[in-house]
Amino acid sequence: MSTESTLLVDKHLSYIVSLDTKKDTLEYWLTEHLRLSGLYWGLTALALLGRQNALPRDETIAFVRSCQHKNGGFGAAPGHDAHILNTGYAVQILALQDALDEFDTELIAKYVAALQNRETGAFAGDEWGETDTRFIYSAFNCLSLLGRLSLIDVPLSVSYILSCQNYDGGFGLCPGAESHAGQIFTCIGVLAIAGKLDLIDRDVLGDWLSERQLPNGGLNGRPEKLEDVCYSWWVLSPLAMIDRLGWIDANGLARFILGCQDPEVGGIADRPEDRADVFHTCFGITGLSLLGFKGLKEVDAVYCLPKDVVKRTFARYNK
Ligand SMILES: [Zn+2]
Repeated sequence: MSTESTLLVDKHLSYIVSLDTKKDTLEYWLTEHLRLSGLYWGLTALALLGRQNALPRDETIAFVRSCQHKNGGFGAAPGHDAHILNTGYAVQILALQDALDEFDTELIAKYVAALQNRETGAFAGDEWGETDTRFIYSAFNCLSLLGRLSLIDVPLSVSYILSCQNYDGGFGLCPGAESHAGQIFTCIGVLAIAGKLDLIDRDVLGDWLSERQLPNGGLNGRPEKLEDVCYSWWVLSPLAMIDRLGWIDANGLARFILGCQDPEVGGIADRPEDRADVFHTCFGITGLSLLGFKGLKEVDAVYCLPKDVVKRTFARYNK
């Protein structure tokens, strides 16, 4: 059977597991700033493939612990400064491993909450203060999983998010910035977590998002750009959140993603013939899961975690 119709589950499994064994290669060191996020992408892909135990749990948790600072925040790798995005990845990894109980979640939540700007509702990524709508999403994702949204001013962040919306229905990384699918995922994710999706026009946004599909089935992130597997997540997940998933050609997109698999070593690339990496492997699989692809566990469009993981974490922290 051609790779254009088959998901190469065992190949992807061995590809992801092998990433952990390449510690002495130059490639490993060059991507060190991506370590915690890489672990999250790998574990999410494995969990959706039904192989959530393929990486050693104790070592995974010990690595996450080695990235934590005294203030509760996490860096990308041991010795790296704490950052809100890496703290979000750490919480997602610990949720996937059902290990949040082994950490001081109150301390983690306080670190994240302190990064909110109490005048604008935006979040800084770290103590240096740069802001980006991705940081607000990361905060809402992790604080809601931990049942601690009450530590921040939710309505203030919601109005900040709305100020990032453009006339085309999309959102940018700050007020006035061009619409971009990645930022739309984060902004719609914040509104979904806050229960405020009624504040936007779903049809206008759904039009912009569905126009991202190109004749080969793939999706781009902005007009005039090339298709790329990761947009299977950044475009599809907001469409799912606003109930407009049916507005794109699902079969065409599934074919495009499957055509980006590496049939030799496993993994999924950004587009056919390119080199596979764990980021695109994750978002190819999460995209296929949203499309209801057979054999994959269901992904939660808001949290980018398997639905059963979100449910289990909510049951524990949102009493
Ligand atoms: Zn990409």
